Amino acid sequence: MVNVEPLVIVHGGAGRWSLVFEASRERGLGISEESVLDGVRQAALAGYRVLESGGSAVDAVVESVAWMEGSGLFNAGIAAALAANGEVLMDAGIMDGSSRRAVGVFCLKYPRHPIRLARLLLGRTRHVLLGCEYADRLAREYGLEKHPGPHPRAQALYDAARRKALEGSGYTDNRELLERLGVILSDTVGAVALDRDGNIAAGVSTGGTTFKVPGRVGDSPIPGAGYYALNGVGGAAATGLGEAILLSSLTSRIAWYLREGYDAVKAGWKALGELEEVAGGGAGVIIIDSNGGYAAVFDTEAMPWAVAAEGGVKDYGLWRR
Ligand code: ASP
Repeated sequence: MVNVEPLVIVHGGAGRWSLVFEASRERGLGISEESVLDGVRQAALAGYRVLESGGSAVDAVVESVAWMEGSGLFNAGIAAALAANGEVLMDAGIMDGSSRRAVGVFCLKYPRHPIRLARLLLGRTRHVLLGCEYADRLAREYGLEKHPGPHPRAQALYDAARRKALEGSGYTDNRELLERLGVILSDTVGAVALDRDGNIAAGVSTGGTTFKVPGRVGDSPIPGAGYYALNGVGGAAATGLGEAILLSSLTSRIAWYLREGYDAVKAGWKALGELEEVAGGGAGVIIIDSNGGYAAVFDTEAMPWAVAAEGGVKDYGLWRR
């Protein structure tokens, strides 16, 4: 019987947090450095409480992510980013390192907590990806809470991105927008947990990039890109420019390095360096290795993150050092 120290690490998204704080000041949204750091600390504690009471790594990840989805502080759940057509189109995914199963859900409009739909499906189907109105229908049939519609945080960032995207352009359709995907504001949420039986899980939830082309799906629902977890190896949850994360298979690359014997910090930086080579950077990742080592690495301006373990919050950070 494995007996390890349970641990949760969460992130609130790698991206241009200075723009979020600026938009918040302009619109009086109350999102500040302090509230965001408090948010990730609370989210880590929400997951840790599950582990403390003997719960599984999977359920800890769900509670941490659901806390952030419900907070209105991050690009996920109630404050999920808006696509170019003004719609909320969310993605989420979760992987259980003990069963080696994962479920990703994408292009969702219905649930307030997409991570809860991914969790429900994890126990009910062998399918790995399920999306669009079909997945929304399941969320409704399972009685999950309904999304309340665009949040002021998402609307403020949408308005700012829209102004930038349309500056000097005659934007009329998705084709032109596809070429202008440089307008990126992210701030997805994610969590990785290790329970006392040595099980590892990882999950993420997002509205995707602000002003994305409707129908665009990033890394977040895709195992091996947005998240990955294998017992005895480790787990990782990514954030940032989904296209770069997808093209470099970021989290499966990290699992590979962990298996090769790298610790969490070294595996994270090596994989992030390779993402920069392949796709130019713009990402962050949180990692737990099978020895309980953890890392929060990112090449963006900022990424709020926090770790909870016995005794409470153990570590946290926001800006790039
Ligand atoms: N990775 C997410 C996406 O590209 C965005 C983010 O992490 O903030 O959809």
